[in-house]
Amino acid sequence: MSAPQRMAEIAGGGIGGLATAALLARDGWKVRVHERGDQIREIGAGIYIKNNSIEVLEQLGVFDAMAPLGLQLQRAEIRFPDGSLRQQRSLAGLSRVHVFSRQAVIEALRDVALAEGAEIVTDSTVTGVTEQGGRYALRTQKGAASTADLVVGADGVNSAVRNSLPMRSGFRVLPTIIDRFLIQGREFTPENKTVEHWSGNRRIGVTPAGPDSTYVYMVAPERDATAKKLPLDAADWSARFPELAGLMQALSQAPATQYNYGVVNCPHWAMKNVAILGDAAHGLPPTLGQGAGLTLINAYALAHHLRQEADVARAIRQWEHNVRFISDQTQTWACRYDWFSRQWPTSLDVARPLITWAFGRFRYLNDRMRIADQGLRLAGIDMTR
Ligand SMILES: Cc1cc2nc3c(=O)[nH]c(=O)nc-3n(C[C@H](O)[C@H](O)[C@H](O)COP(=O)(O)OP(=O)(O)OC[C@H]3O[C@@H](n4cnc5c(N)ncnc54)[C@H](O)[C@@H]3O)c2cc1C
Repeated sequence: MSAPQRMAEIAGGGIGGLATAALLARDGWKVRVHERGDQIREIGAGIYIKNNSIEVLEQLGVFDAMAPLGLQLQRAEIRFPDGSLRQQRSLAGLSRVHVFSRQAVIEALRDVALAEGAEIVTDSTVTGVTEQGGRYALRTQKGAASTADLVVGADGVNSAVRNSLPMRSGFRVLPTIIDRFLIQGREFTPENKTVEHWSGNRRIGVTPAGPDSTYVYMVAPERDATAKKLPLDAADWSARFPELAGLMQALSQAPATQYNYGVVNCPHWAMKNVAILGDAAHGLPPTLGQGAGLTLINAYALAHHLRQEADVARAIRQWEHNVRFISDQTQTWACRYDWFSRQWPTSLDVARPLITWAFGRFRYLNDRMRIADQGLRLAGIDMTR
């Protein structure tokens, strides 16, 4: 007699919830995703999809179809306001990076989750979990708690699932703001490279995000009231970044989203039959462009451990034990990067180019900071099998 089909209830239809749904459904689970929005959609502009993300998307069989919608980058640069090049990295091998519009990524994950047989319920807000007979059941605003063999809290930085569990967890907003734009055309990004321009405590990242689009992000300390204005103050930004004056003018007419950096503290990812995943578990400043990458490898690793170990509670404990260090270290480095770029004292400005140069020059430093690029081989999980 075959074993009864196992059931997973997933809170959140973002990158984490949908990737987990596809992976578990493929392994024979009955999966239901609860998304509070009225449709599956991403807010924001572009997204860097790095080697670790790509490896999971390849395993899901969606990357080849997605690739033409985005663009592969050849190198990353950091430049100072005089146009001088302060750091250059080649983006090949385990450092490969593609850029996409966010919507392209979420739609690919939604489609593969549905194709694998997962159910996605929109307009379904999760309010938390309730303990029932030694394990947790998911509660939604609409009705009774749903029992499941596995509950996944992939409901973002303010996770209702995480917040309802008996642990001290939370989301702390950092005093850094980021504006994001996705504009038509490649006038400002003719080459396949991403450039981060630094001027004092402000940064502007400019990158092609597809054959005919450009993604721009602008970062500044929250206390910088002029930098915070939207529509952006083109004259003020141009004075700080003279070589980007044309782009600033174009952006002053373009729609933007503004967001505060933040960091999640989640002491336990595994509690009985509940797994906390993605930003809900390790939300971090986007300084290394790795939030989705961590989310995807952790989703893959979760499915892997559930395949290896039949006892769900034990499997997810092993999952946390095995892979968590990659996210923890990346979160620490992402916060350091934020501190270095936002708070570095002006009295020490002379040292900043040196540190920036050293991270470009000595591969060891960059590899430590960008540990997540290496993906699950760090945790001994062979994704080719
Ligand atoms: C400015 C910025 C730039 C970034 N750039 C990059 C990048 O270049 N590369 C990269 O890898 N990562 C990047 N990230 C990080 C990346 O976007 C996140 O790590 C990733 O989206 C996390 O996915 P998630 O599914 O865990 O969470 P989310 O994307 O937050 O998805 C959570 C989902 O759950 C839903 N939800 C929330 N609460 C409930 C509830 N109570 N009930 C039901 N549904 C609920 C939400 O509507 C949402 O759909 C960036 C993040 C930011 C903020």
